[in-house]
Amino acid sequence: MQYWIETLGCPKNHVDSDKLTGLLISQGYEAAASAESADLVIVNTCAFIEAAREESIETVLELADRKLKGARLVVTGCMAERYGDELAAALPEVDSVAGFGQSLTVSTPVGAPTKRRVPEFDLLNLPRPATSVPWAYVKIAEGCDRRCGFCAIPTFRGDQRSRSTEEILSEARALAAGGVKELVLIAQDLASWGNDRRRARLGEALEVLDDGGRQPLIELTRTLSSEIERVRLLYLYPSGLTSELIETILSTGVPYFDLSLQHSSRPLLRAMKRWGDGDRFLERMGAIRAAEPTSTFRSSFILGYPGETEDDQRSLIEFIEAAQLDWAGFFTYSAEEGTYAGSIAEQIPRELALERMREVSEIQDAITARRRDDLVGSTQRVLVDSPGVGRSVHECPEIDGIIRINPSLEVGSLVDCVVTASHGTDLEAVPA
Ligand code: SF4
Repeated sequence: MQYWIETLGCPKNHVDSDKLTGLLISQGYEAAASAESADLVIVNTCAFIEAAREESIETVLELADRKLKGARLVVTGCMAERYGDELAAALPEVDSVAGFGQSLTVSTPVGAPTKRRVPEFDLLNLPRPATSVPWAYVKIAEGCDRRCGFCAIPTFRGDQRSRSTEEILSEARALAAGGVKELVLIAQDLASWGNDRRRARLGEALEVLDDGGRQPLIELTRTLSSEIERVRLLYLYPSGLTSELIETILSTGVPYFDLSLQHSSRPLLRAMKRWGDGDRFLERMGAIRAAEPTSTFRSSFILGYPGETEDDQRSLIEFIEAAQLDWAGFFTYSAEEGTYAGSIAEQIPRELALERMREVSEIQDAITARRRDDLVGSTQRVLVDSPGVGRSVHECPEIDGIIRINPSLEVGSLVDCVVTASHGTDLEAVPA
């Protein structure tokens, strides 16, 4: 029996697909060469925003047309988790809608109570197959304890459930033994990893950790980076970026800070039910740059959140210009069922949100290009991802730009290279 998995959405979904692959292989399945030749076709969907949901549905319908007659079509992932019943009813082409932990290979009755059910079991601790690239995402927690105004994730992924240190180390060591040189740690709220376990043990409040600097993530990062060449942390909620965590990240030799900022305007951030403001973010970034001037920053921002004003937009533009981020992603707000923001009356017209997004994107594109130009002439240690393509510590896999290198350099090797040119997001480099 052969399977095909189509994965949509963020890196977290790609890890889930890896784990599904490991599970199917352990059940005797083999990878199909194409969706058209598979006996089992799985679509791992994304429900993040409306556009992602549309893409997920389109993919399901397209695969329903392309698949072998009699092949089983299964929809899993966030959309299955969130809209199980409705999805099953709306897509008669689909054989099964399976939330996290439900079987993909036997029929799941349509109408099973998946909606609003927080998964008891998910894919975190399933084995994963060997990777063909020298880097790997490792998901260290699932769910989130925060309740940001725009975000529906906690309603269907549930509260945070952290994996244990032993489970993470065991997966990391297996990946390293298979040739992985870079681990990218991910979670919905990475800086809070372990808080749920610690709270359960000590009965401590989450807030204690926001300024106490005793985050469990610090020890985990130190241990992993003592064993693996590169450890990169994604999705850091800004209040979780304590001085000790900053020091720890810098000590790993990967001065890469992916900060989940969402906006810079204080009133708007409060309306989003989030911490901080542009000044506090700049102050923290300034401290990081003072300690390590070559630090790289990435963030993402929402445009068109309900109640967003022209003042908020000006604040964001000023912030973007002052922050000089290396990388940034911009998204327009979409109202999500079950969120606080979905109930706010003052929704922003879509055209205006798009216009504001285009305005900041244009400014950021020029900044990114300049930041990339600044690397020309520098020497970077490049991890060869595939023939002719590598990355330094400044580029996260799949999200940021790449470095073009000589195709004869061995995949998986780390080579000191001098950057010779920059083209927008990508660089060119030759061995030093
Ligand atoms: S921290 Fe992230 S995952 Fe958690 S509620 Fe906020 S936006 Fe959603």
